[in-house]
Amino acid sequence: MRARENGVRLTPVRRRTLEILLEAHGALGAYDVLERLSAEGYGTQPPVAYRALNFLVENGFAHRIQRLNAFTACVHPARDHRAAFLICARCNSVTEACADSFTQAMIEAASAVGFQLERSTIEAVGLCSACAGKPA
Ligand SMILES: [Zn+2]
Ligand SMILES: [Zn+2]
Repeated sequence: MRARENGVRLTPVRRRTLEILLEAHGALGAYDVLERLSAEGYGTQPPVAYRALNFLVENGFAHRIQRLNAFTACVHPARDHRAAFLICARCNSVTEACADSFTQAMIEAASAVGFQLERSTIEAVGLCSACAGKPA
């Protein structure tokens, strides 16, 4: 992925934000991240969390999940990729799956109608493997 190749440095607050996302079971909202950061003395103002999260998203370390208005760490930040997010309707866990072929199909469908696709986000809702086996 771009950031590591370009030698992007993670400041302590960015690194800690990434760790918080990696430790989380599901995606975290900016305010959840801010709560953790401020409890650890990184600052109490919302921009602290938003700036760190935006940096992580822009540099491929994390993804924004629109449906949950939340963030999740990328599972393979080392390479450029298209991701699909599988969101569990019961426990809100987010699983990242590879969507390269899906995205290619999307690009072809778009170009068939003369549309130039710039970006697409794939978010699907269902039950994760843990929840699928449990009674409601
Ligand atoms: Zn990813
Ligand atoms: Zn689940």
